[in-house]
Amino acid sequence: MKSNKCSFCGSKPAPNLIMLQGQDAIICQNCVQSSHDMLQTVAIGESKSNSPKSQNFILDKTPKQIHAYLDDYIIGQHQAKKTISVAIYNHYKRIESFHNSTNSEVIIEKSNILFVGNTGTGKTLIAKTIAKMLDVPFAIADATTFTQSGYVGEDIESCVTRLLLNCDYNIEKAEKGIIFIDEIDKISRKSDNPSITRDVSGEGVQQSLLKLLEGSDIFVPPQGGRKHPEQPFLKVNTANILFICAGAFEGIERIILKRFNSSKVGFKHKSDQKNITNPLNYVNAIDIKNFGLIPELLGRLPVIVHLNPLTTEALRSILLEPKNAIIKQFRALFDLDGKNLEIEEEVYDFIVEKAMIYQLGARGLRTICESIFNESMYESPSQKTKTVKITLDIAQKRFSENFEA
Ligand code: ADP
Repeated sequence: MKSNKCSFCGSKPAPNLIMLQGQDAIICQNCVQSSHDMLQTVAIGESKSNSPKSQNFILDKTPKQIHAYLDDYIIGQHQAKKTISVAIYNHYKRIESFHNSTNSEVIIEKSNILFVGNTGTGKTLIAKTIAKMLDVPFAIADATTFTQSGYVGEDIESCVTRLLLNCDYNIEKAEKGIIFIDEIDKISRKSDNPSITRDVSGEGVQQSLLKLLEGSDIFVPPQGGRKHPEQPFLKVNTANILFICAGAFEGIERIILKRFNSSKVGFKHKSDQKNITNPLNYVNAIDIKNFGLIPELLGRLPVIVHLNPLTTEALRSILLEPKNAIIKQFRALFDLDGKNLEIEEEVYDFIVEKAMIYQLGARGLRTICESIFNESMYESPSQKTKTVKITLDIAQKRFSENFEA
């Protein structure tokens, strides 16, 4: 009598196990899944080897040109842009030298970046814009969702999976991509004594990040892959991935000022302290360590960049000037309907003033604009008039209906 077991793994029929009968063999659902995963990995490998041979990354921009590119999208933050331009330039030069493997005596170390600045000051935007300029894959991760491996929560490696997903599982491309880890300040050490309790979402995560940031082989499941013991994993090396970590580091100004006060050559007197209008200008690794990041992690984030709080003038420029400025986007939307959007100058000041009062930052500009333009976007497509006019009166009325009711 013929056996009814799986001809590949020998599994017996079970209520929840689908068995497919062939001419002389039977295959179970688990073996079908494994074969599928295996074939997919082979296909990925083939498409990789068929792709134009190992496109070495060529950086065709100088730091000044990188800065100029950023200027088109990001308002202000000149010091940050300058430091970043150099860091990006060095990072991709390092990759080039890595591929050409000349002068191998000097090994240039990776310079991952740490952004320090309030929410809504452009940290994510800068990272995103750099990835777009370089045409490299980009992924955003939230450090607060990470937990130390083996604990409930998202594994740190998930950010590499996301990066792969964003470049159709092209490992070669992913290995030169950028990963942006936000809210890094929220995983600071809970207490000064490192080993009192197990701190799996704070210091534990920082420890786990070390290898990832420095460069190590990460194994991720293939596209759409399910967890299956025999599943072949994809290997991604993170040595050339640029990590940009970012956080608001709320209260760090106090730490910076304290350092100045206690330093012998620093600003000892109260009158001198007044000179420091923006303590963030002086932020350094010691302050970040005092905030709660472990020195080992800081060692892997050698470039520290601060972003200044946005002024009224900066907000007004953000509203109007960048290539994809919010107002330009609204104009384009009306334009698609064949309408000309006319806005009174005072409306811009009104929007900025409200964003400042409500401390909504640049992110709030969009919310306020939505509240003002929404009604017109609803009405105008069914009206014959070619011009949509927004006066200060209309803006004030619509804003108060939405925000101050
Ligand atoms: P965060 O610092 O919290 O990462 P984002 O980069 O996400 O802030 O900024 C939120 C939004 O605010 C962006 O999409 C962008 O429209 C705007 N924005 C913030 N800062 C700037 C800036 N310096 N220049 C231009 N737009 C900015």
